Amino acid sequence: MKIIVINCGSSSIKYQLFDMTGPSIMAKGVVEKIGLNGSFIKHESNGKKVTLEGEIIDHQSGIEYMLGILISREHGCIEDFREIDAVGHRVVHGGEKFKSSVLITDEVIAMLEESIRLAPLHNPPNLSGIYAMRSLLPDVPQAGTFDTAFHQSMPDYAYMYAIPYSLYTKYAIRRYGFHGTSHRYVSERAREILQGKPVQKIITCHLGNGASVAAVLDGRSVDTSMGLTPVEGLVMGTRCGDLDPGIMTYVMEREDINRSGINSLINKHSGLLGISGVSSDMRELETAAEQGNERARLALEMFHYRVRKYIGAYAAAMGGVDAVVFTGGIGENSDTSRYEISKGLEFLGLEFDREKNAGVRGQEKIISRDGSRVTAIIIPTNEELMIARDTEQLTMNNK
Ligand code: ADP
Repeated sequence: MKIIVINCGSSSIKYQLFDMTGPSIMAKGVVEKIGLNGSFIKHESNGKKVTLEGEIIDHQSGIEYMLGILISREHGCIEDFREIDAVGHRVVHGGEKFKSSVLITDEVIAMLEESIRLAPLHNPPNLSGIYAMRSLLPDVPQAGTFDTAFHQSMPDYAYMYAIPYSLYTKYAIRRYGFHGTSHRYVSERAREILQGKPVQKIITCHLGNGASVAAVLDGRSVDTSMGLTPVEGLVMGTRCGDLDPGIMTYVMEREDINRSGINSLINKHSGLLGISGVSSDMRELETAAEQGNERARLALEMFHYRVRKYIGAYAAAMGGVDAVVFTGGIGENSDTSRYEISKGLEFLGLEFDREKNAGVRGQEKIISRDGSRVTAIIIPTNEELMIARDTEQLTMNNK
């Protein structure tokens, strides 16, 4: 079975074509700068990488262009669109309606249109991708996998905010959590890799530009650090994470800024960038801190401390912890961050092994000492594969 996985952002489309026997990746790439000057596609297939320029005005034309490349003689890997058996879409916000991946139907589309109010920036491009694929490949089944779905198992006392209950009933204001596909993938993979060891209570740390932690009890998410929107929780590249809500009105008043101003402040100008004034990028911050930049050091310490605090909180939420998983660009690649976060967690039973950790990038590896009661492990995430597998399952069940 061949499945194409699509992830539509506001001005980009990431794609991967899977051959599910294996599974193996037949082609992958990204359409960039959609609707802007200088749009292009970076495409990779059969070990060959190309960058192709073109005027790409919207998601429909981006997907059309990408499909054209997939069947082209020079850069393609299939002969006909009919070889594509199904399409899997990443959808950011599924609200309370979607607790797992679903086949896309008219009814699902109507519900997704409704959920735009919860994710006004993310869901519209996801929907554009769905509409485009439906018109270009009308006979091919399509499925949606939601960033929020894995966290729908959170108990009400974990997902509710302590604000008037009517705001929940009127506007569905509650915690949803994101990166669910990643937390699900790495926690499932941890259970596979650590067979024979205890894996009932897993804390998964997805640390990238956007970052979140999840508490996974018996394979189900019971808490996670992001909320109604992805701005809650950890210190991120440019997002502030947890904040006294009183700060918002105070800053709006003092700086005389409006709703969109404060929104941009907490989403785009805060986090590692806001504190350091140097960069939102972990690599650049680590270099700046090594060179003695004091605010870069502070930003890093805040980042590590917040993750450590969440690990402690989630150990308390689950009555203990068996494994801590590191994933995402920082979790997979920054040995310093993994060490700094784990330092001080010996009281939980995590004996970190600095030697095993040193220099490891992007590979599955246990980085706690042999005999450590809590296992620390690096697991590179693979959201696309998870979406492809869900799509395969749904398509087969529907036959
Ligand atoms: P996104 O949330 O955009 O998907 P990623 O998961 O790709 O982000 O993570 C990006 C982050 O990973 C950046 O802060 C980047 O600096 C960091 N990162 C990538 N490689 C390394 C590395 N070798 N050492 C430290 N940090 C790294």
